[in-house]
Amino acid sequence: MQLLYNESGDTMRKRTETRKVMVRDLQIGNQNKVVLQTMALNKTEHIDKVIQEINTYATHGADLVRLAILDEADANALKTIKAQTNVLLVADIHFDYRLALIAIENGVDKVRINPGNIGKIGYIKKVVEACKEKQIPIRIGVNAGSIEKDLLTIHGKSKEAMIESAKRHVKILEDLDFYDIILSLKASEPQLAIDAYRLAAETFEYPLHIGITEAGPVKQGTMKSIAGLAPLIEQGIGDTIRISLSGSRIEELNAAKALLAAFDLYQAPKLISCPTCGRLSYDMMPLLKQVEDYLNKEHINLTVAVMGCAVNGPGEARDADIGIAGGKKEGLIFVKGEIVRKVKQENLFEVFIEEIEKIRAD
Ligand code: SF4
Repeated sequence: MQLLYNESGDTMRKRTETRKVMVRDLQIGNQNKVVLQTMALNKTEHIDKVIQEINTYATHGADLVRLAILDEADANALKTIKAQTNVLLVADIHFDYRLALIAIENGVDKVRINPGNIGKIGYIKKVVEACKEKQIPIRIGVNAGSIEKDLLTIHGKSKEAMIESAKRHVKILEDLDFYDIILSLKASEPQLAIDAYRLAAETFEYPLHIGITEAGPVKQGTMKSIAGLAPLIEQGIGDTIRISLSGSRIEELNAAKALLAAFDLYQAPKLISCPTCGRLSYDMMPLLKQVEDYLNKEHINLTVAVMGCAVNGPGEARDADIGIAGGKKEGLIFVKGEIVRKVKQENLFEVFIEEIEKIRAD
């Protein structure tokens, strides 16, 4: 573990020291930035839908978007997709080295494949040579749910089994003189993931892609992911992240951003809101949702408050750059605790955004 520094020489967060792996010009590892990932929902051969997804996720903060490559139609589609977007793409491939070769030839930026599952060493060599030639990294993804049988017999479903599995895959690549490796050791149980990633950070010099797999539907999955990933992030572990939810990818990205922002690893708008009580006398919740959506989309580095009442709101949210507090069918806009405007309920959102834009323009 070391303290890393930003370009101006200021200390930022404690982060584990790792090898630096490049995905084109995007650095993974050995820095304060934790790279954000998500995965497309559509089958990759449905080019227009996939491109739309990719661009949407990029506007919501995704640095990398992973695409499932199930067959040749998917692998071939990458050529057109790459020609129509600048977003960095990861090809997710199981077993079939030929699909990896097509994906690499078609310009994909990173491959997720486990060399130990490819089969003959000659096939693995072909994939590694293609990656070397195009200078693209490989992510090895160990999953607690699919550990090799012999390792399960010896270690049971455990961090040791996961690490031994990762070692096997890593060794195959290292023996071929390939080191542009990123590792993931996902588990559905947060404690197992925490243990495995901690041991991985001690064992390997490669950057780690962290996540809790099959975390569940949005609410439960977010909580489970935060329970598993926050201890790692706090410890400086994790160079790239995906929160996996059964639901909207936007929710995944927002949850990941909020988690990183809580540790000052992502510059995100901070939204303060009160829990409301009997003093609430305007329709706050729809406004709160509108403001939240706006902030998530605009990436504004401000602290914004939406408060229930004018009696306590401006005071309780004094630290906010700008805030709104409800009166009777109206709202008060305050800047750094000082009231600057009174607005009718029906115009609240528009006027509030107007005032936020004024602060941004300053
Ligand atoms: S700001 Fe007002 S409405 Fe919100 S919790 Fe405090 S007292 Fe209640």
